[in-house]
Amino acid sequence: MLYKRSSELFVEALKYIPGGVNSPVRAFKSVGGTPIFIKKANGAYLFDEDDKRYIDYINSWGPMILGHAYQPVIDAVIEKTKLGTSFGTPTEIETKIAKLAVSMVPNIDKIRFVNSGTEACMSAVRLARGFTKREKIIKFRGCYHGHSDSFLIAAGSGLSTFGVPSSPGVTKGTAQDTLLANFNDLNSVKELFQANKNEIAAIIIEPVAGNMGCVPPVNNFLQELRSICDENGTLLIFDEVMTGFRLAKGGAQELFNVNADIVCFGKVIGGGLPVGAFAARTEIMDYLAPVGPVYQAGTLSGNPLAMAAGLAMLQAINNDAELFNRLEAKTAYLEEGIRKVLNANNKTFTVNRVGSMISIFFCENAVENYEDASKADTPEFKKFFHDLLERGIYIAPSSYETWFITDALSYEDLDETIKVIDEVTK
Ligand SMILES: *Cc1c(COP(=O)(O)O)cnc(C)c1O
Repeated sequence: MLYKRSSELFVEALKYIPGGVNSPVRAFKSVGGTPIFIKKANGAYLFDEDDKRYIDYINSWGPMILGHAYQPVIDAVIEKTKLGTSFGTPTEIETKIAKLAVSMVPNIDKIRFVNSGTEACMSAVRLARGFTKREKIIKFRGCYHGHSDSFLIAAGSGLSTFGVPSSPGVTKGTAQDTLLANFNDLNSVKELFQANKNEIAAIIIEPVAGNMGCVPPVNNFLQELRSICDENGTLLIFDEVMTGFRLAKGGAQELFNVNADIVCFGKVIGGGLPVGAFAARTEIMDYLAPVGPVYQAGTLSGNPLAMAAGLAMLQAINNDAELFNRLEAKTAYLEEGIRKVLNANNKTFTVNRVGSMISIFFCENAVENYEDASKADTPEFKKFFHDLLERGIYIAPSSYETWFITDALSYEDLDETIKVIDEVTK
């Protein structure tokens, strides 16, 4: 039986862990069925507890851009582990990875390491508020910046620009300071600035949205945000937790040639260990404790194992001049193959892609914002997901998630994937 051991393990997990998972998307709630439990992974493949093999298009939600069990990362972590796993003191490796990250990413002088993307975004916003001495922030509907209170905000009713909490436990007070704009809609941003003059500390954005499926910025949208921020004394925060070290060495800042004031990292920067970071020019970063007044700390921040994994990862990316060309070529090949078979099978769909981030939406409209993305046909996606899973292709269990292409994928893997997509959509 397919997924036999996974089903048993899930039943047991449900007894002791809420929903059986430690992060909700893993539970397959939006597609139904039982999540598969993974035993091990290598290169482009996952192996579940029933020893079924999958070609992996999630890649731990982004970090495994060079494939699973990437040897230099594994070796670096093993060697570091032998020296002790945490000291709560400064270590040399923190400066090494900081120096490398600063050399790879445009427009940053200093970086601080934390333990997750959530922490990075939460801290970046606090820093922006401290630096500007303002309280409000603008975020975009459908963008995800981790699960801290300020970001769990939904649209207010009617034309109201105030956010309302989208999760119990987030206070109305917190929600009031998060203003919501529409992705790719400059007017929605301008209106917020008019109504909240001199009150907006920062705009935070995923420069390529990846948490409503992959949604690229329309022409000059990011450049225009940069100008609006400059005119208003507001900081521009790029949440590059997904795009950082994925779209280019220097992330979306480099790809779109737009400078952000604060940049957030996670995922790839930890090479598969829990790492996040945020970075900016010295003038801004020196607002942080212990130099400046904005408090931010972490017992395990800059942990030696995490830094060893991250450093090995960034070195591999930095030393491989062809990596991003290969990723682009592989993902373009996949995109072309998918378009071809879906067209041949008379499917209605939209494919969005930037570099190695790609999504298929089963809808006829273009997808440029959250509202567009939510028109994608859910029952069709569910069936598509399960049909692929059964045939050994593991894509994200929600149409609001991007596929992450890894360099470990071979063209045979891509051909196999296209063949399976053809079969299941015939
Ligand atoms: C994943 C993600 C986060 C949150 O990172 P965690 O490590 O899960 O806390 C924040 N922002 C973006 C854009 C992400 O994709």
